[in-house]
Amino acid sequence: MPTRDQVHNFAAGPSPLPTTCLEEAALGLLNYEDTGMGVCELSHRGKEFKAVIEGAEADLRSLLQVPDNYTILFSQGGGTGQFSAVVLNLLAAHRLAHPVPAEEFKPPVLDYVLTGSWSSKAYAEAQRLCTPPFPNCPAFGQPRIAASTKSTSWTRLPTRDEYNFSKDAAYVYYCENETINGIEFPPKPEDQSAFPFDLVPEGVEIVADYSSSFISRPIPNFSRHAIIYAGAQKNLGPSGVTVLIVRNDLLVDTTEASKLGCIPPVPITYEYKILADNKSLYNTPPTFPIYVSALVLQHLIKNKGGLEGLENTNKEKARILYETLENAEKKGKVKLVVRDSSARSWMNVTFNIEGEGEEKKFLEGAEKRGYRQLKGHRSVGGIRASIYNAVTIESVKLLCDYINEFCN
Ligand code: PMP
Repeated sequence: MPTRDQVHNFAAGPSPLPTTCLEEAALGLLNYEDTGMGVCELSHRGKEFKAVIEGAEADLRSLLQVPDNYTILFSQGGGTGQFSAVVLNLLAAHRLAHPVPAEEFKPPVLDYVLTGSWSSKAYAEAQRLCTPPFPNCPAFGQPRIAASTKSTSWTRLPTRDEYNFSKDAAYVYYCENETINGIEFPPKPEDQSAFPFDLVPEGVEIVADYSSSFISRPIPNFSRHAIIYAGAQKNLGPSGVTVLIVRNDLLVDTTEASKLGCIPPVPITYEYKILADNKSLYNTPPTFPIYVSALVLQHLIKNKGGLEGLENTNKEKARILYETLENAEKKGKVKLVVRDSSARSWMNVTFNIEGEGEEKKFLEGAEKRGYRQLKGHRSVGGIRASIYNAVTIESVKLLCDYINEFCN
């Protein structure tokens, strides 16, 4: 039976968490700060949990330098829940901003940038939610593809001339890091595949799914975003909590919007305003994932050099792994999935092992050495090494040594 130290976990999510945080959480699970009660046994409205959630919010705000005009919310339903919540809340906000009589209502365009499975799923959900509720009724919105790389199997990002944004969309939606194929928008505007913020018409809101790259490096053009969201289970904490960062003017009363008609009903736990008004405690939140996330945030700030430290380490981890794979590629042993190096994810490194039966051999050898969960997503196969915040540079170096050994 291996110990934790003997295993190097490259899971795509849920993914590894810092051992010291888990040790502390294990103690907290039994007896939280000498209360004689475990953290999961405390009221979410008591002073102890209030301190936990408020601490997490403050730490996240300082780590990411979230501007004052944004609210941080802890919600449930995962990234998938946000595929729905984004549509519902932003259609309501748009309706309140355009309170024309129902007879004059025109469904707003919702622009989606499709770069992989997750943005495609978000788009499919927008289409589902916008469907007219009965015949001869207008749709609630018109989801539209503003760019797509589906024809090249999601292995690249759109070029600038492939984007085609609508002038008056209610919002533009993109996924910053596509976890399955390992495609990520590079952070610098001068990078050829950077997200083209400058092409999005002024006044059109921007929504970003940061589920698999959250707090791995700074968020470019933060204040151009309306909503940034992320499931916790890659870089932040256990699954079960979803972090939302919502610009304050978009915390709208969806019940008021419903009175104008022409928007889909919004389940109350998905309304951003109700979450904000109740400081993420409208109903019982996932207290344990929030607690562990709070411990992780403290750890990242105190021991990992904050966002700058994380950025430097993550950049270096990605650099050495891609360099190793490029060398292995020259030897004809592997093939990187993403060909444009500027679109390669810092978090999910995807490649194929060339040759009949070689992938199986690679995975078996990895398993023997304690390198776990390297198998690619079931929809695409191949190998995927996810190197989120809690994966150390030592683990990445060991994986590189193994790749070199395998290729020689
Ligand atoms: N977006 C991205 C980028 C993801 O990687 C995932 C899950 N891996 C999701 C959304 C969906 O998240 P969840 O499973 O928490 O609903």
